[in-house]
Amino acid sequence: MGSSISFTCKNCAHDDAIFFGGPKTRWSFSTGIGMLYSPRNVFYEDEGRGPMVVSLIRSQKIKAEVSSRLEAGWAPEGDYGHEIYMCAHCMDFHERFHFTLKSGDEAYEPQYPCPKCRIELTLVTLVERGGEITLVDSTGRAILWRCPICGSRDLVLDENAPLMEWD
Ligand SMILES: [Zn+2]
Ligand SMILES: [Zn+2]
Repeated sequence: MGSSISFTCKNCAHDDAIFFGGPKTRWSFSTGIGMLYSPRNVFYEDEGRGPMVVSLIRSQKIKAEVSSRLEAGWAPEGDYGHEIYMCAHCMDFHERFHFTLKSGDEAYEPQYPCPKCRIELTLVTLVERGGEITLVDSTGRAILWRCPICGSRDLVLDENAPLMEWD
């Protein structure tokens, strides 16, 4: 199931749409993905091409780190898929591949930098609380959401494109 939100900034008239958990942004093996995104293809050597996860990461530093951890025997844990990340500085959204690797008691998650600001992006989820659409981080804390163009908090949901849900 996924959802999308369209918003317009009352201050600068910037409008945008973000898709959460939809077929375009997330494939989770627990909800049934195709063979392409099987754990074997994503995290393990695939006919000499190397694990696919490395090709889904843009940062050379993170690519190298993930490769070396996989070679050292770290194993995927839990869901993985394309998720929405947000930059707390410029308020822009980016799609990145989220996953967790484990080795014993140690866990590793990629820490993606904002391509503009270089600060670490925050993994975000869209939730509805009492009719209000809220963005929360991985700890469930609400994120102050501002217009990525002008910084105004005066954002309104687009009346023509309200929150959508699909299976
Ligand atoms: Zn940024
Ligand atoms: Zn604005």
